[in-house]
Amino acid sequence: MARRRSSHTWVYFIWGINGIAILCLIAVGVFYLTNQQVSAAVGPNETTQAGPTRKIPPTSYFLPTLTPNPNYTPPVFETSTPFLLENGPRPTVIGYSLAGRPIEAYTFGVGERQYLIVAGIHGGSEWNTIALANELIIHINEHPEAIPTDATLYIIRNMNPDGEARAHGVDGRVNNNGVDLNRNFPSDNWVQDWDRDGCWIYRSTTGGAYEGSEPETRTVMSFISARKITALISYHSAALGVFPGGVPWEKESVALAKALAKVTKYPYPPLDTGCKYTGTLADWAVENGVRAAVDMELRNHENTDFAQNLKALNVLLGFMP
Ligand SMILES: [Zn+2]
Repeated sequence: MARRRSSHTWVYFIWGINGIAILCLIAVGVFYLTNQQVSAAVGPNETTQAGPTRKIPPTSYFLPTLTPNPNYTPPVFETSTPFLLENGPRPTVIGYSLAGRPIEAYTFGVGERQYLIVAGIHGGSEWNTIALANELIIHINEHPEAIPTDATLYIIRNMNPDGEARAHGVDGRVNNNGVDLNRNFPSDNWVQDWDRDGCWIYRSTTGGAYEGSEPETRTVMSFISARKITALISYHSAALGVFPGGVPWEKESVALAKALAKVTKYPYPPLDTGCKYTGTLADWAVENGVRAAVDMELRNHENTDFAQNLKALNVLLGFMP
C-alpha cells in the first residue's frame, strides 16, 4: 500500500512541473507579442529617416602604393604557335613547360583501343612535326570517320613549346634547361651524358639532372601512365627512318615500325649512324605498359609528308598486337 501512495505522489509532482512549464511558455509568448506591437508602433517613420552621411577618412580603405620589384620577371603564359581548331574540340592542357607554356592534347573518338601521337619533342629544330600534327588534327576533325568506332586517338601536338618558341633551327631543339627531352625519360638505359659519335652534336645538351627531371617529360609520362595506350608514334625529323622502342628492339614495336615503313617508304631498318639512343620516349613507353612504340622521322626538316602520314595514321589505328 505504501508503494501505491508513493507512485501517486510522483504523478502529482510531474503534472505540477508540466503545469508550471506551460505557464512559463504562455508568459514568454505574451511578452514576445507585446514587444512586437510596441516596435511596430514606434515603426517605419523613424527608421527610414537617413542620418547624416558618414565621412570615410580619406585613403583609410586603400592599400598603400607598391613599388614594383625591379628583379621580378613575369612568367610567360602564351602558346608559341597559336593553333585553334575552328568548330572542333578544344584541347586539354595536360601540363606546362618550364616557361609556363601549356602542353596540349587533342582527343578524337571514344573507343576502347587507345593510340597516341606525340610531335615536337625536339621543338623548333623539328618544327615540321608540329606542323604535321596540326594538319592531322584539322583533317581528323573534318573526317571523324578516320577514327575507327572502337578506337581513341590522342595527339600531343607540341611537347616542347619553349624550344619551338626559341628558334626554328638547331637552337630550338632542347627545352629551357638545355635538356634533350628524348633522352630524359627514365627508361632502363637513361644516362646524363653519352658518347657523341654519330649523334647530334650541333649544340651542347644533356639527358637532364636526373631521369625524368623535366616538367615536359613528366607531363607526357603522367598522360601515358593514366591510360592504357596500345601503340604510339613519336615524330621526329629527319630522314633516318623508323626506330622501334625497347632495348633491344621489342617485338611488337618492330612489327609496328615495319608496317609504318611499308606505307610511308621511310627507311626500315633505320639508318645506323653509330649513335646510341638513351632515355627515349619510345623505350620508356614499351617498358611501362605501351604495347608498341616507335620514333618516326619525316623525310626532311621542312615538309610534313602529309599523304604518307595519313597512311601511317591508318596503320597506327589498325594496329592490334
Ligand atoms: Zn628528333
